Amino acid sequence: QIATPMPVTPDVQSILNDVFGYHEFRDGQRDVIQAALSGKDSLVLLPTGGGKSLCYQVPALALSGLTVVVSPLISLMQDQVAQLQALGVAAEFINNSVAREDQVDIYRRLHDGEIKLLYVAPEKVLQREFIERLHHLPLSLFAIDEAHCVSHWGHDFRPHYCQLKQLKHAFPNVPMMALTATADTATRRDIVHQLALQNPFIYTGSFDRPNIRYTIEEKFKPMAQLMRYLRTQQGQSGIIYCTSRKRVDEVAEKLSEAGFNVAAYHAGLSNEERQFVQSGFSRDDIHIVVATVAFGMGINKPNVRFVLHYDIPKSVEAYYQETGRAGRDGLAAEAIMYFDPADIGRVRRFFEDIEDEHRRRVEEQRFSAMAAFAEAQTCRRQILLNYFSEYQRNPCGNCDICLNPPKRFDGTLVAQQALSCVYRAEQRFGFGYIVDVLRGANTSRIRDNQHHALSTYGIGKNHSSEYWLSVLRQLVHHGLLEQDITQGATSRLTEASRAVLRDEYTLELAEPRLQAVHVYEDKLA
Ligand code: ADP
Ligand code: ZN
Repeated sequence: QIATPMPVTPDVQSILNDVFGYHEFRDGQRDVIQAALSGKDSLVLLPTGGGKSLCYQVPALALSGLTVVVSPLISLMQDQVAQLQALGVAAEFINNSVAREDQVDIYRRLHDGEIKLLYVAPEKVLQREFIERLHHLPLSLFAIDEAHCVSHWGHDFRPHYCQLKQLKHAFPNVPMMALTATADTATRRDIVHQLALQNPFIYTGSFDRPNIRYTIEEKFKPMAQLMRYLRTQQGQSGIIYCTSRKRVDEVAEKLSEAGFNVAAYHAGLSNEERQFVQSGFSRDDIHIVVATVAFGMGINKPNVRFVLHYDIPKSVEAYYQETGRAGRDGLAAEAIMYFDPADIGRVRRFFEDIEDEHRRRVEEQRFSAMAAFAEAQTCRRQILLNYFSEYQRNPCGNCDICLNPPKRFDGTLVAQQALSCVYRAEQRFGFGYIVDVLRGANTSRIRDNQHHALSTYGIGKNHSSEYWLSVLRQLVHHGLLEQDITQGATSRLTEASRAVLRDEYTLELAEPRLQAVHVYEDKLA
């Protein structure tokens, strides 16, 4: 009852030229297409913008039957179908937004063999009635776009996707192509397993995005840092990611007050509002979108010049995906993250509320890799690509570490000053307060506590507060200080700090990196 795929137009090259108007296949496309034409399952791992769609669109046209594309996002489906129709390709989509009578019409044309590519939402494709219809059609290929959604390991797990292996069971002879831009090895393995792919052909493209410059800036006064950066970006398109809706609204409001052309986007907004922001952004009416992770998949804007993370993302995949929305046009773009080491503890505590034990462990592990990435002092791109099993021998020359290598210095004296200040302030204050004492700030709180009389009061006024904050954070990393988060992040000395205070060894610290962006400008000039 099921048509085995039979190439009727083996000349995929002419499809590429005549239908799509391109001259050559990109790396991997031809092999993947060949696998589909010969009836093999496949797994295609290509970064965003790598050209995944063509991998199933060309076989869809080369094979005699119907290609069913499962895609999780309505806007994505609509875009692709509109593009294909503009090229004269018989493509349609079916999801719950399509009116009943239009669906009936599509079904009629499907049965008449007038449609080559049908895009469907996963929940639709799994309906028994729909599967029943498919049984009466000559199927060439299933393409599962954004296939990482099947995986609990993936950053965007969707329960409907999990059941897609039913398709493989219902149509064991129809080849299935799974495509994703997510690359970590655990997710890859899981996709093959979850979709029940049979001995698939696997193609892994390079995940490097050489035009994106990665920068991690220590977070001090993030709003001020943000404004300073945005002023260098006059009128350019960018996305600012924050972890909570509340933060999104706050940041968007402040930027808007400061005169930036900005809109907020998160799942708490109505469909219309979100649609408005998304299309305004793609038309360049809106320059900057402040968003939660809800803003993402399906944004196909080529000229996003910067993606900025106001908070640390939950996984390296999420970071890679989000930063990957910058520079799709291949021109220089920036990925900047503001990083406060204390956020690591905050995010970890958030995971404690996850009830499902397995899920919690997965999240924790994924976040640990992200935290390690944020804290690392070696080439960002090397770490990122190594994480995706793409070993890089040389540092990239286009990240903050490569452009502005961290300098080490003998931090024993400043460490002693900071540690004794914590000690004399009776170990019951947070970093902000300690920094104020060190710098001799004239605040009522300090006077009330009589701390202007401490010997460490004003001892560090020759350094900025950012400098001291960075030193204090490094002391935490070195295990010399600890913060009690249950007590308003009050800081305490650890046992290990004694040796530093007694001058028993030299403590190397990293030179605080205060104005990364400006340093680059000098270097590049
Ligand atoms: P992905 O789905 O992997 O993010 P797309 O399929 O949207 O990527 O392709 C990204 C862009 O590259 C599109 O504009 C597409 O038309 C273009 N493209 C894909 N393959 C080729 C090719 N062989 N030659 C030229 N352009 C291509
Ligand atoms: Zn680098």
